[in-house]
Amino acid sequence: MTSLSISYDDVARAHERIAAVAHRTPVMRSSTADGRTGAQLFFKCETLQRIGAFKIRGAYNAVSQFTPAQREGGVITFSSGNHGQAIALAAKLLGVKAVIVMPKDAPEVKVAATQGYGGEVVRYDRYAEDPAVVVKRIADERGMTFIPPFDHPRVMAGQGTVAKELFEEVGELDLIVTPLGGGGLLSGTATAARSLSPRCDIVGVEPEAGNDAQQSLAKGEIVRIETPRTIADAAQSRSLGQHTFPVLRELGVRVVTVSDAELVETMKFFAARMKLVVEPTGCLAAAAVLTGKLDVRGKRVGIVLSGGNIDLERFAQLVAGQG
Ligand SMILES: *Cc1c(COP(=O)(O)O)cnc(C)c1O
Repeated sequence: MTSLSISYDDVARAHERIAAVAHRTPVMRSSTADGRTGAQLFFKCETLQRIGAFKIRGAYNAVSQFTPAQREGGVITFSSGNHGQAIALAAKLLGVKAVIVMPKDAPEVKVAATQGYGGEVVRYDRYAEDPAVVVKRIADERGMTFIPPFDHPRVMAGQGTVAKELFEEVGELDLIVTPLGGGGLLSGTATAARSLSPRCDIVGVEPEAGNDAQQSLAKGEIVRIETPRTIADAAQSRSLGQHTFPVLRELGVRVVTVSDAELVETMKFFAARMKLVVEPTGCLAAAAVLTGKLDVRGKRVGIVLSGGNIDLERFAQLVAGQG
């Protein structure tokens, strides 16, 4: 086996670092969902996490390990929103400057929240410009350290704490399912699962419009695609990363896809039945289970609801079928 970028020990140490800062989010059940699927479903509610998504875990784990010189220079990143907010909050908590490069069409709620945490927002056109180039220019000019949204061992280890908490709370599972963009959450999840619930199947769910991870695992190499057009805006990554892909491949992760229509149905379910506002990307894993794309009958299944950041008006439009 090739040596992977993170081990379970990295996840466990990340958990100690973030313990005083990130919430230990609740695990919710739904007898309606259990009845409909014939399974026991455990929903890990990162919608109720600080900044409204799991990303504070990886961001804080990374920025808290900066050297004094890195703290002095500050942190920079690009993000469709949640990672930007997470870096801005982590930086604020640690007394470090933050610059967040965000797409022009990112949801306003995410832009405002990032600025609210004291982050400086620089905007770019995601269908025309490469955010990595914008970030590199500013990082070089200002001596800032770049922390990417997923392809970084300390980010991946931090995201793995979601699954660590879930297994600690509910015990071993037959299956754990998470949303999948660039694979930070899923690689951390797989790493935690292999240690805490070795027989557990691990599945990532990406938008149908952009199944680059599914293609990458089938082909055995990273496949790059154009920015997919989907309502799952936090999973519009164009490829897996150099660090995340090997973890997913070596740990035997499987990938399935769901459509935007299935995400909307799932958003409605959470609002109506569980009184939870879940953003489209946050519904990916649950949609794969609730629509029957995964065979879960008779199984104990962990499902990560990864985030809940969505403009209220946009939420209303989508659930009213005007999206
Ligand atoms: C970032 C994000 C994802 C995808 O995570 P990756 O680590 O990029 O795979 C899923 N859901 C939400 C809410 C996110 O913010």
